[in-house]
Amino acid sequence: MTQIEKFDILILGGGKAGKTLGMDLAKAGKSVAVVEAGMIGGSCINVACIPSKTFIRSAEVAHALKGLAEFGAQADKVFTSLDVVKNRTAAVVSEMVATNQAGFDASGLQLVIGWGKFVAPKTIEVQTADGIRSLAGDRVFINLGTKAVVPNIPGLAAADPITHVEALQLGDLPSKLVVIGGGYIGMELGQAFRRFGSEVTIIDRGSVLAPREDPDVSDAVLKVLEREGIEVVLGNEILNVSGQSGQSVTVTTADGRSFEGSHILVASGRQPRTADIGLDLAGVELDSRGFIKVDEQLRTTATDTWAMGEAAGTPMFTHASLDDYRIVKSALSGGGRKTSDRLVPYCVFIDPEFARVGLNETEAKRRGIPYRTAKLPMDAVPRARTLSKRTGFMKALVAAGDDQILGFSMLGVTAGEVMSVVQMAMLGELPYTALRDGILAHPTIAEGLNMLFSNVSAA
Ligand SMILES: Cc1cc2nc3c(=O)[nH]c(=O)nc-3n(C[C@H](O)[C@H](O)[C@H](O)COP(=O)(O)OP(=O)(O)OC[C@H]3O[C@@H](n4cnc5c(N)ncnc54)[C@H](O)[C@@H]3O)c2cc1C
Repeated sequence: MTQIEKFDILILGGGKAGKTLGMDLAKAGKSVAVVEAGMIGGSCINVACIPSKTFIRSAEVAHALKGLAEFGAQADKVFTSLDVVKNRTAAVVSEMVATNQAGFDASGLQLVIGWGKFVAPKTIEVQTADGIRSLAGDRVFINLGTKAVVPNIPGLAAADPITHVEALQLGDLPSKLVVIGGGYIGMELGQAFRRFGSEVTIIDRGSVLAPREDPDVSDAVLKVLEREGIEVVLGNEILNVSGQSGQSVTVTTADGRSFEGSHILVASGRQPRTADIGLDLAGVELDSRGFIKVDEQLRTTATDTWAMGEAAGTPMFTHASLDDYRIVKSALSGGGRKTSDRLVPYCVFIDPEFARVGLNETEAKRRGIPYRTAKLPMDAVPRARTLSKRTGFMKALVAAGDDQILGFSMLGVTAGEVMSVVQMAMLGELPYTALRDGILAHPTIAEGLNMLFSNVSAA
């Protein structure tokens, strides 16, 4: 029988929350083991946010080169080498992995590489390259993340579809990419491949893109993609798939149409990595969709056991997982931070970006919250004109009864950055007039907030 190694803190899965908590507690003098299957630093830096945004940046450059004439510039030959794109992406990833590894080393935590599973409460067995290790912790934290779902469509699994992981590592450009799923991953990668030169079809069973957003946002996002020549097929179920991704595939939909492609990319949802790892033996209960049940401070149903990040049902963003770390840290020292009272912003990295913080009109109506609105086309923002980035709009919701900002949505250049300005005003509980009347540098995109908040409708 393997000897059990004891730690103060045992973390299964080195995602954003887990690794940050691990380093923090190790620096504070605790003995910490982080069990990680192999992605040093978790999925964000290895296969998700960082490589996808690096890839998207290359696609932006390729796209900008096609429009050089507008700026009085000319290039003799424009072509995309996906091999170079892949290598640049890999270089950025390795840099970040090295930075993470250095952080782990400096903190004093013990990184145990291998697949872990619970064998008893607060006890994990890890299959490492050197054999099995048994680890126990006084306190245990689970940060497992999610993986892409391959929907149960006849012929799809046999077609060996790619996910975001393989898509970001292709050496050759797909001549025609069929994307299953019009969520943010499908839209971001679909647009990037289109910009590199692939023909792209995005198929989604929903009747609109970005269904959680207001209808004006969904319409505008659809137009952005269609304007670039992406075929977007909405409200359509896929009946079956035949062929092999990487060679030739045919996707047949319920309305009798067929879509041919060289590659098929599944981007139709994520599932938690909670199966077959002994969570039942640890006393950790799951909900009906396989996510770990947690309370508002991320405690699971097992004693001294917490869960963080996507597998705990946290919104699927790195910054939300990071905030889980803050909540757990607060809980460990008797603090009262909760998941229910946080403002989680997000940004979709299509071009132009879409970003939102707080309420949109659809949610305010659903929750019966009275509001005033303000809307501003990006075309009205001087900086957008100088950049030739006029697509989109800013939109804000202000409380009907007082001047508090309830939410902000923006489709437009640097939307993610501008959103953060509004978010700070919201966190500081500033009235909207602070953004209407504050002096904002000219000509910046954020300056548009002066104009936006001058347009707030009457109560
Ligand atoms: C293509 C793509 C693009 C994205 N872009 C963005 C973006 O721009 N911005 C943003 O905020 N978010 C983005 N996300 C989401 C973001 O990546 C995640 O929300 C973030 O990584 C947080 O995940 P996590 O902390 O839950 O776990 P993860 O980072 O997924 O970490 C979980 C870790 O647990 C390990 N693990 C799992 N099971 C075991 C086991 N049994 N034993 C040992 N180790 C195990 C895994 O190897 C993994 O490293 C993107 C996601 C994808 C797929």
